[in-house]
Amino acid sequence: MAQSVEVIFLGTGSGRPDPERGGSATLIGHGDNGFLIDAGEGVGRTLVQHAPEWTDRINTLVITHNHADHITGLPMLFMLWKAHGRTRPLDVWLPKGMGRALFSWLETIRLGEVRGWTCFLHRLAERTCTPQDGLTMEAWLNGHLPVEKDGSFGSYSLAVETEGLRIVHSSDINEVEHLTGRIRGADLFISESMHIDVKDVLASARSEGAQQVVLTHVPPGHPCKPVEGAVWAYDGMKLSLQDVKD
Ligand SMILES: [Zn+2]
Ligand SMILES: [Zn+2]
Repeated sequence: MAQSVEVIFLGTGSGRPDPERGGSATLIGHGDNGFLIDAGEGVGRTLVQHAPEWTDRINTLVITHNHADHITGLPMLFMLWKAHGRTRPLDVWLPKGMGRALFSWLETIRLGEVRGWTCFLHRLAERTCTPQDGLTMEAWLNGHLPVEKDGSFGSYSLAVETEGLRIVHSSDINEVEHLTGRIRGADLFISESMHIDVKDVLASARSEGAQQVVLTHVPPGHPCKPVEGAVWAYDGMKLSLQDVKD
């Protein structure tokens, strides 16, 4: 029998600081593997608050793009792992151009040379690959950030498949067309809600048959009125995908 897959929302806020929500961070846990999408402001805190059992099981981190609300939790996450005496290797996937900047920042604040684990950097690009045992990741560009002439930066949405389940996680996007065809067959579709019309997201999810829709990347003060066919994420929200499928 397939193991259940846990999805834990560690940061559901947007680009504006929010007293109720942290910066973007979503954890997909399966077996002994934690797959973290983005490391927005406060992710170290929300991890120890809501999912401490996953702290040392996160072995893959994917940063979807280089906006502050998706990366500024990284130093405290590294600090947390340092405090835990982490030894497990970490795979970090970044769009081209981000690696040198991010890791020189970590070196500068003494979180580079003192860390006790190996960090493998990988380039996030449009492709399908297997970043963890038993998990495939499909990444594709959307129009949220312009790609530089040398191919640097850009913003990537992801589809993750593990334990026979498909989870689609939008990055920040500007048009729902960037997800067309990708949501099909999704057991869970996690969509941002700040840069696009939620009605378009729900229409796409319906037409492509997504089983469950979660709306995240919520601006401060948003009323989060109930919408048919989706739920609004909050920091600490947990889903078991086996339950969703059953
Ligand atoms: Zn954002
Ligand atoms: Zn952004």
